Amino acid sequence: PPALEVRDVTVRFAGLTALDEVSFTVTPGTVHAVIGPNGAGKSTCFNVLSGLYRPASGSVRLGTTELTRLAPHNIATLGVARTFQNIVTTQGTVADNLMLGRHVLSRAGFAASALRLPGAVREQRAHLARAREIAGLVGLGDLFDSPVSLLSYGDRKRVELARALCLEPRVLLLDEPVAGMNASERVRMAEVVRDIRASLGLSVVLVEHDMGLVMRLADEVTVLDFGKRIAHGTPDEVRQDPEVLRAYLGTENPEAG
Ligand code: ADP
Ligand code: MG
Ligand code: MG
Repeated sequence: PPALEVRDVTVRFAGLTALDEVSFTVTPGTVHAVIGPNGAGKSTCFNVLSGLYRPASGSVRLGTTELTRLAPHNIATLGVARTFQNIVTTQGTVADNLMLGRHVLSRAGFAASALRLPGAVREQRAHLARAREIAGLVGLGDLFDSPVSLLSYGDRKRVELARALCLEPRVLLLDEPVAGMNASERVRMAEVVRDIRASLGLSVVLVEHDMGLVMRLADEVTVLDFGKRIAHGTPDEVRQDPEVLRAYLGTENPEAG
């Protein structure tokens, strides 16, 4: 089965249909981009996938598991992790932030380890080792014990990414991962996303306004406009699609979605 299957999802707000029977599937181990002009329904789509919004109709499946009406924390522990467009990190070190991610995997173990039960201390040490490994995967290995408040914006975005990876997801939802970054931070982020997809065998859903990044990273692209899916295909196919060009027409800056 696909890693993630979105079928005929409809979301309405008062009089507005934000998503109108939208469908797409994410092939395991690939990057699937969801793009479209401002107001197209991209964030609404992510909010459905992560359980923050319940659709009026339609379904979302992770492999063969039905996610449609589950709560956000259930969806996260089943293997769908997300990052947010605005940075959400806590104070403390990179290690502290990543261990918060691990904590979700082993709440009982962490409580026992606070009481210094030997088995639990061993388990916590294993979580710390895994967190350090994940920090290394996103290029934060040397900063593992650094306070997050001292890091650059680009580094903090990767702390957030690493914390999501600490949930050991099968599907990673990235909400504008390079928004607000400078050119070199963008290149770095693109490399990191490509690396983690390969080394962790992750499937990625990417909402992004930076078309350069979409072209570099995405295997498949779904294009939304006014809540409807207007195109789907490889980056090169959608870039030349007349419907897509029309949707972006009059959008002075397609990156300002
Ligand atoms: P995008 O992320 O593609 O810019 P959104 O998913 O944020 O688009 O929004 C799609 C449409 O749904 C917009 O018209 C937006 O105003 C509307 N919308 C989004 N969230 C809500 C909400 N919670 N209540 C009412 N309308 C909303
Ligand atoms: Mg928007
Ligand atoms: Mg949005």
